[in-house]
Amino acid sequence: MAVQRTFSIIKPDATKRNLTGKVNAMIEDAGLRIVGQRRVHLSEAQAKRFYEVHAERPFYGDLVNFMTSGPVVVQVLEGENAIAAYRDVMGATNPSEAKPGTIRAAFAESIDANTVHGSDAPETAAEEIAQFFTDDQIVG
Ligand code: GDP
Repeated sequence: MAVQRTFSIIKPDATKRNLTGKVNAMIEDAGLRIVGQRRVHLSEAQAKRFYEVHAERPFYGDLVNFMTSGPVVVQVLEGENAIAAYRDVMGATNPSEAKPGTIRAAFAESIDANTVHGSDAPETAAEEIAQFFTDDQIVG
């Protein structure tokens, strides 16, 4: 297996409840290294662009409103098979389906306020990382 990078967002429900450190502990316990990290308040344009793939879905407006409702922490995670490894520790999108021991099972409040985002494929990981980080902001 190869060392990969993936893009993560700690969402507003988690920053609001002061859970950044607890989420980061679960990320690091899963063997992933946080090689880039910044706290930002997304603009509407940034959130719309980020979730453009869902633009036609009925929940798009709620999703953009939620993601701009408070600060988020954008991150680059690195490790063996990082994309799948992070999705494993995130748990299912709907927290009622998330397995025990996952971030979403531990902290998510609803399908919208579900604590974290993680890329789903190498192409989206590269694209999402490039939306928020320049090469010199990632230190492996
Ligand atoms: P993820 O990769 O597990 O975050 O899931 P997706 O990329 O499919 O969806 C992006 C985000 O949109 C999810 O994290 C949810 O917050 C939200 N979302 C996805 N599906 C639904 C849905 O059916 N209803 C609502 N309200 N939100 C959804």
